[in-house]
Amino acid sequence: MGTATFKGGIHPPDKKELAANSPIIDAKAPKIVVIPLSQHIGAPCNAVVSIGQEVKKGEVVGEASAFVSSPVHASVSGKVVAIGEFPNAMGRMINSIVIENDNKEEWAVLRDNPDYMSLSADELKDKVKAAGIVGMGGAAFPTVVKLSPPKEKTIDAILLNGAECEPYLTADYRLMLEKPREIIEGLKITMRIRGVQKGYIGIEDNKPEAIAKMKEAAAGESDISIITCEVKYPQGAEKMLIKAALGREVPPRALPMDVGVVVQNVGTALAIYEAARFGKPLIERVVTVTGEGIKQPKNLMARIGSKVGDLIEECGGLKNGVAKVISGGPMMGFALSSLDVAVTKGTSGILVIPDEIVTHTEEFGPCIRCGRCIDICPMGLMPSMLSVLSEKGFYEDAKEYNLFDCFECGSCAYVCPSKRPIVQLVRLAKSMVKP
Ligand code: SF4
Ligand code: SF4
Repeated sequence: MGTATFKGGIHPPDKKELAANSPIIDAKAPKIVVIPLSQHIGAPCNAVVSIGQEVKKGEVVGEASAFVSSPVHASVSGKVVAIGEFPNAMGRMINSIVIENDNKEEWAVLRDNPDYMSLSADELKDKVKAAGIVGMGGAAFPTVVKLSPPKEKTIDAILLNGAECEPYLTADYRLMLEKPREIIEGLKITMRIRGVQKGYIGIEDNKPEAIAKMKEAAAGESDISIITCEVKYPQGAEKMLIKAALGREVPPRALPMDVGVVVQNVGTALAIYEAARFGKPLIERVVTVTGEGIKQPKNLMARIGSKVGDLIEECGGLKNGVAKVISGGPMMGFALSSLDVAVTKGTSGILVIPDEIVTHTEEFGPCIRCGRCIDICPMGLMPSMLSVLSEKGFYEDAKEYNLFDCFECGSCAYVCPSKRPIVQLVRLAKSMVKP
């Protein structure tokens, strides 16, 4: 049997070798952390600390303000020195809490529980909620919301996303090598929360060591299967992974829960385990700092709120001739306009690209109707039409071409011979009309 996959997609060079063999190491303790009160999809948190207040590591500093919202916690012990607006990776000003590290590393009291599997589904869910866990693959959707589908939706499968299909990124790969047992426990907790009998982990087959480690960790767990997926971008997109691993098609406009599936990133599974076992909130994450423009690519365990610039320094700094620093991967990440922005729960990587490999699209050409973008769109859309309609300002008409089914994977722009900025044009159209 061949490896599992979906229709469409592309094969960009994966460049994972730059950081794949760097074990996860703790980043240096930051002097200051800037913790955004909004680092997930949903409502921003309300600050529950004031300037001058002493806080401990793991203490709640922002409380969830709505159902789709997630609390944030201090990632260092120290003093709150400012509360105000700071730019995030996309350049938006976000209300944030600034804490000066006292380097005492004092933790708030955490509820350790070696017998976490004897807790009820609701008790486990409360732990996930209190720990402020969000999707760590980049989307940052509050995990407790994903685990609370409407009653009429029956979930019968939990699928862990270990595909990590974005080129360069190796954070999930390293976690699967270094924490496989903990990831399996996180999956089992998620299965218990939803009362689901079957768990799956989808991993691309360019990660044979991770597949072996996860298989070894899952040996004896008859209800957990490791699925090897073809190496293809965007294999890690939820709908693509569900199709490849489970053979289920998520219809247009529908969500994974509509086909009975909850998808979690492997990093999220680890965070779920740590919350259930140790009561540990999500205050740090693995960030792959990589790219041809960085001196020593590394996988760093970084505190939430650390500065991107400090992580880059820790990796030896930038080489000469750097053109772009991206938060995330090259396909779906965002170019940073400043290195003074904070690492958030969704920051999977910092990618530094030198000028010689940047594609400059300022002067893009007209659509020559070659059809390449249509052939590879994993959602079966017509990216050419979406881009042309948006370019001409016919945003409403783009809806007839299923504008909102585009999840901005960037595959179409990658193959376009006219270097058309299709994703930017899609984003523009989306911002101009309602779904
Ligand atoms: S149209 Fe959207 S979903 Fe399709 S390839 Fe382009 S970015 Fe990806
Ligand atoms: S790949 Fe580019 S040029 Fe070809 S049809 Fe699509 S938008 Fe047009």
